[in-house]
Amino acid sequence: MRSPGVTVRCHGALNDFLPRAQRGQPVTLPWSAHESVKHLVEVAGVPHPEIAALTVNGVPARFNERVAPGAVIDVYPHEDAPAGEPRPTTLRFACDVHLGRLAAYLRMLGFDTLYRNDQSDTELVALASAEERVLLTRDVRLLMRSAVTYGAFVRATTPEAQLREVARRYDLRASAQPFRRCIRCNGLTTPVAKAEVLDQLQPRTRRYYDEFWRCQTCGQIYWRGSHVQRMQALIDRALA
Ligand SMILES: [Zn+2]
Repeated sequence: MRSPGVTVRCHGALNDFLPRAQRGQPVTLPWSAHESVKHLVEVAGVPHPEIAALTVNGVPARFNERVAPGAVIDVYPHEDAPAGEPRPTTLRFACDVHLGRLAAYLRMLGFDTLYRNDQSDTELVALASAEERVLLTRDVRLLMRSAVTYGAFVRATTPEAQLREVARRYDLRASAQPFRRCIRCNGLTTPVAKAEVLDQLQPRTRRYYDEFWRCQTCGQIYWRGSHVQRMQALIDRALA
């Protein structure tokens, strides 16, 4: 006789992880004695870091629990959780290999953001976990790795919309400190005397600007040129 299986019901934005035709509908999976709730919801398609709360047959439950045949699992997204999303004490990020522009924008806002284009997924997840960073990715499978504690699936596809999405989700407006971090390498910048960097400046920059900052890590020089105004406009739009 076939056992009655397990039903997973996705609420709110968690439906984004279901195939279009199945959104808003319960997902039925085969029951198995040794599979945890976490495994079952991920088989349904929902990565665990996106889940704020879950119930089994209406009773609050944990990821590591086992369920009886016929169980109904309800999973809720962070935006519906009264306490908001759990986050590390210091808000820091790690971006996957496809989110280079987003990483640059987050650095521009002053957030410590790990990004490398020569890193394997395993290295990225290990670093994000060891350093308690929020893993930002467009790869659902990556979020399903068990080492991921804090993470978000970035839904938007253009860098500016991605920044807006992350800014809203993690309330970046409250803690942004723009233009203190190097966009290239994530190092911190400090003011530097013009005389010290004179030989590294283009004639125009030398003529029109007097205040400069230098990255303590890679030495990149920054000044408040027209590019800063463009970035400021982008920041204002993202944090609005
Ligand atoms: Zn740098």
